[in-house]
Amino acid sequence: MITLKRSEEIDLMRHAGRMLAEVLDELGRMVQPGITTSDLDRAANREIRKRDCFPGFLGYDGFPKHLCVSVNQEVVHGIPNGRRIEVGDLVSLDCGLIYQGWWADAGLTVPCGEVDSEAGLLLKVTKEALGLGIAAAWPGNRLGDVGHAVQAHVEAHGFSIVRGYTGHGIGRDMHEDPEVPNHGSVGRGVEIRPGLCIAIEPIVNEGTPATAVKSDGWTVVTTDGKRSCYFEHTIAITESGPEVLTALDGGGG
Ligand code: MG
Ligand code: MG
Repeated sequence: MITLKRSEEIDLMRHAGRMLAEVLDELGRMVQPGITTSDLDRAANREIRKRDCFPGFLGYDGFPKHLCVSVNQEVVHGIPNGRRIEVGDLVSLDCGLIYQGWWADAGLTVPCGEVDSEAGLLLKVTKEALGLGIAAAWPGNRLGDVGHAVQAHVEAHGFSIVRGYTGHGIGRDMHEDPEVPNHGSVGRGVEIRPGLCIAIEPIVNEGTPATAVKSDGWTVVTTDGKRSCYFEHTIAITESGPEVLTALDGGGG
């Protein structure tokens, strides 16, 4: 069931989103050679609680940490551990928090130092795809328009869309209806209406879109060992268009 949010509810989600944008900004700056993924996890917990929010990932479906960190061929849901980040790594950070009962969910892939040109293009195209998906999320459009915008941009550059993990409605829970796929057809799917709050999160692979789950039960990896990249924002649909709730400047950044 899709629950449209009232403006006072979106006000609370806007605050949650702003706090999460600040947390992710701090974490992104910490991605330097030698830092461990556990260091990032501890920082996430500290930065979230400092802002009177709760780390929503902790215990969510049994997830043991406060942050997902997925490196290179890891796609999503990486569990922070003692791994040290090295120059050239692509480090995907996915984080969620709860403020007064309302969720924000966002993330990004951060390059550690200089990365090769293919990785640079993968980052650029995935971030652009998120922007195009958000730009398609206007009242009167449909979720197929969003998915199509993401998919067309990614595939035009020879990369692939991971199908098994999608965006989602968000609000009182992290994962609400509707599903927000990163592929689709123009004019198809759920109608986008004011009050709809969704997370859009293109997950893009260098090579095959096929993925597998590691023996830890969480970490998703590419089956060909090539790299993956991801960007996510929580947005609210208003009468005057999509509003990004998880950007520092209230824009699409
Ligand atoms: Mg999400
Ligand atoms: Mg997320």
